[in-house]
Amino acid sequence: MKDAKKLSDFVKPYRVDEGKSFRLKDFDPGDTCGLNSESKGLAAELLQQGIEKLADLQDKLYAQDRWSLLLIFQAMDAAGKDSTIKHVMSGINPQGCQVYSFKVPSPEELDHDFLWRTTRCLPERGRIGIFNRSYYEETLVVRVHPELLKAERIPDELVTKRIWEKRFEDIGCFEEHLARNGTVVRKFFLHVSKNEQKKRFLARLDQPEKNWKFSAADVREREYWNDYQSAYEEMIRNTSTEDAPWFVVPADHKWFTRLVVAGAVVDALKGMGLQYPEVDPQKRKELEEARKLLLKNEKKKA
Ligand code: AMP
Ligand code: MG
Repeated sequence: MKDAKKLSDFVKPYRVDEGKSFRLKDFDPGDTCGLNSESKGLAAELLQQGIEKLADLQDKLYAQDRWSLLLIFQAMDAAGKDSTIKHVMSGINPQGCQVYSFKVPSPEELDHDFLWRTTRCLPERGRIGIFNRSYYEETLVVRVHPELLKAERIPDELVTKRIWEKRFEDIGCFEEHLARNGTVVRKFFLHVSKNEQKKRFLARLDQPEKNWKFSAADVREREYWNDYQSAYEEMIRNTSTEDAPWFVVPADHKWFTRLVVAGAVVDALKGMGLQYPEVDPQKRKELEEARKLLLKNEKKKA
């Protein structure tokens, strides 16, 4: 591995801009893009640089107050969503970042269309918003478990065979609308293998400090593995666009997952061409006057 490798080199292979020919089986959850245990040091260094760059760009994003960034995380249980969010965002200013985790919808949320609850949580200008699960659950868990769709109480004549296709269309229009209004959308599917998931579940059972993470429901959901994999594949095929691409991030090695996600976030922010706001002549005058006042007061006291 040559030292000249850049962070963004580890992002490109996993980016899906156009989903028509996408097949999940072309992506290996154990992939590390040529990095091995010997080059792990390089990976750690690149990740650290990425996190520092992210902090610098976020400062500009906040100061400029024009763009916002929405990061969406979807995955099977134990794929590492929480820890990826924690590590990648470790260097940024909490004031400029909003994280929302979407769980089973409440009765109030079920009383609205499926984009309602997430729309209320979209990032303000100048902020990074993180969705830990999202409206995409409406094409995943709700598709795998038809009784959840029933619970939404959509009038029967509107629930046709084409409902998933229609949902993909609605999501596509919604994300285009966000892009047109200055919210850059980046979506991450953390792609873990069934075997690695089993290992992580067992670790949750075996290690007392991980017991709290274990949920019997997660093991039951595992029974639907193949249904979920096809739902994910369909979702990525139908909702990958240049403005709102999916990243199919290998998730069997957490250190590699973090590297790819950090790189993709840095690339997204770089693409905004962020700059600190220019000071206009009026503001410059105010700054000069403030300086004079400060110095005058100091002289008086001395
Ligand atoms: P966790 O993120 O592990 O705390 O689990 C949250 C649970 O909420 C998962 O089992 C999701 O499948 C479920 N969930 C999230 N969004 C929805 C939704 N729109 N409809 C039904 N279940 C959902
Ligand atoms: Mg869980």
